Amino acid sequence: MEGVSPDMAVIRDVLIWDAERTDAERGDIVIDAGGTISEITEPGTAPGEVMIDGRGRAIALPGLVNSHTHVSMTLLRGLGEELPLMDWLRNKIFPVEDRLRAEHIRAGADLAMLEMIAGGVTCLADMYYFMNEVALAVLGSGMRAALSRGLTGENAQKLRENLDLADEFNGREGRLIVQLGPHAPYTVPRRAIENIAHTAAEKNLGIHFHWLETKGELDSFRAENGIDPVEYLEQTGLLDVRELILAHGVWFPHDGLSSAARGNVTIVHNPKSNLKLGSGHAPVRQMLESGVNVALGTDGAASNNRLDMWDEMRTAALMHKGYHLDPTLISARQVLKMATVNGASGIGFKDVGLIRKGYKADIILIDMSGPRYVGCNRTNVPEFLVYAGSSRDVSATIVAGKILYKDGEYMTLDKDEIISRASKYREEIDKIDVK
Ligand SMILES: [Zn+2]
Repeated sequence: MEGVSPDMAVIRDVLIWDAERTDAERGDIVIDAGGTISEITEPGTAPGEVMIDGRGRAIALPGLVNSHTHVSMTLLRGLGEELPLMDWLRNKIFPVEDRLRAEHIRAGADLAMLEMIAGGVTCLADMYYFMNEVALAVLGSGMRAALSRGLTGENAQKLRENLDLADEFNGREGRLIVQLGPHAPYTVPRRAIENIAHTAAEKNLGIHFHWLETKGELDSFRAENGIDPVEYLEQTGLLDVRELILAHGVWFPHDGLSSAARGNVTIVHNPKSNLKLGSGHAPVRQMLESGVNVALGTDGAASNNRLDMWDEMRTAALMHKGYHLDPTLISARQVLKMATVNGASGIGFKDVGLIRKGYKADIILIDMSGPRYVGCNRTNVPEFLVYAGSSRDVSATIVAGKILYKDGEYMTLDKDEIISRASKYREEIDKIDVK
């Protein structure tokens, strides 16, 4: 069946794990008509219509949260490979982006929804432009998202667009949040940042911001602003908005991290994008030690090049061990927490990211019948998922109690139509002459 039953729907007999459990629990998940988890019972005992039966051979996990991305960049995948960030942005990406139209943005966003839904992503935080198109793509796909219009310069028109986006979509269907999206300290002057932070506080909106991604950015930040990055966050008012998403933070000074350890601030770790662009190695160990809420993201598909949170989880769990010569660092459980509840609550969805009563039924199922799950049991689910699992093992993706994807089939999206439309627009992009 598709969607939520009129009364209760049941995900039958699954091995349930979330970041608040040590061991997985075998049970039935009961979902009410509003798409909220109402109960977890002994396996095979819950009354109600069975939407999916795991038969004890599926893991139920909270949906993965991609906490920093630019979904429409799926249409720019492969452009300007193997260049440093500023060269890549200024000479390859920005000139193409100047020529994109609303229909490109929609086509790229739809393409990203296909990829993410099949990989068990249920929620995302996105910053780009023509964001009405992204909002419609998210709503149509059944996903959940926090969206912001990327703001650069001292551009009143862009800020107006971001506020209009909030007026139109904030809170829509309980699945959309709108935030303000100042792009980065190097593209937005300090005076404009102060104005954006003030506006966000006044309108009770969060902020999504790129933050200290490269070493060069940190150096020029200090030269231009004459103050420490932490003082900048404090003085501009950014730390006082309802949610502040700091994407990257690769070069966040270690001694200032404790200032980001507050309930409303989340640093989003994007390990693959940072590796691919040669940006460096985020101090995740120090972030966690300082008590910072750390989430995970893919960044855009032009710098990753996948929107695959499994890939991101594994990379995050491995790279810090190697870098610090310490296999105890950044455990599988920690990265799963980053990829679920830390992301959901960090980007503004406080009742998403756990499988427990009162939380939204954003749930993915992982098929345990394949060869890589022999030996997986109640005690070792996180380690199997992060070190052996893959996005290919996702057998169902459910958001707010509605099935979006099951056994390779999309319930809300027309895969062939989306790929063919995206291919057509990509051909147009390939004809844009970029020096
Ligand atoms: Zn980004």
